[in-house]
Amino acid sequence: MNEQLRCLRNLQQVNDKIRECEDEKAALRAALEKRRLESEQHRHRLEELHQKIIDEKKQEDRYNLDLKSNEADISKLLLQLTQAGTNEAYSRIDKRIEEEKAQNSALEDSILKLMDEIEAMEGEQAALKDELQTGQKELADFEAKVARDSIAIDARIHEHQSTVAEIEKSIETEVLGKYHRLFERFGGGVMAELDMGAGICLGCNLPVTKQDMNLILADNDIIFCKSCSRILYIPE
Ligand SMILES: [Zn+2]
Repeated sequence: MNEQLRCLRNLQQVNDKIRECEDEKAALRAALEKRRLESEQHRHRLEELHQKIIDEKKQEDRYNLDLKSNEADISKLLLQLTQAGTNEAYSRIDKRIEEEKAQNSALEDSILKLMDEIEAMEGEQAALKDELQTGQKELADFEAKVARDSIAIDARIHEHQSTVAEIEKSIETEVLGKYHRLFERFGGGVMAELDMGAGICLGCNLPVTKQDMNLILADNDIIFCKSCSRILYIPE
């Protein structure tokens, strides 16, 4: 392999490492974002539950007021019952008492149902609060870890970049320019292996001409794939 091609291969390898570092950082950021979102959703669920408990307690208060008001009515009606002048009046009042009592019985059932619901929700709320607290502690730890890891990865990237600068000094300006343009176009992966047996470029899996194969074998020049423009090489 000629010196220029060797340098380009080295350059590609270091650039691949930089790319891996960047992918690693992106994965860490994505994981952090996911955890933050989960924590936010958790908090939101807790707020919703809190509001629902408040609403149900208000409803319970309203039912209790209705219950008291009905009981006061029943007391009045019972008094009226003792003063009823006719059988007809007695029956009418008695019927109203029965109606109010039935209403109260339904109200009491509703209140009991609400109390059960509130108790269950308060249990859930306590469990959610504990979970949230643990989750927030874990999130803080993870945030610290991501910050630490990112610094370590940045240091590695910085090192690789120094190596890149060093390698690039040995590459002809024109070739380097082409490499950079291709790097941008492909988002990396500028170098492609030539499969001598099949006569294809492994970057695009398309055939390489006999003439180009001979030029690559002669190893005097940088040869680009006619199909995908990648720089072809034969692995050593
Ligand atoms: Zn190709």
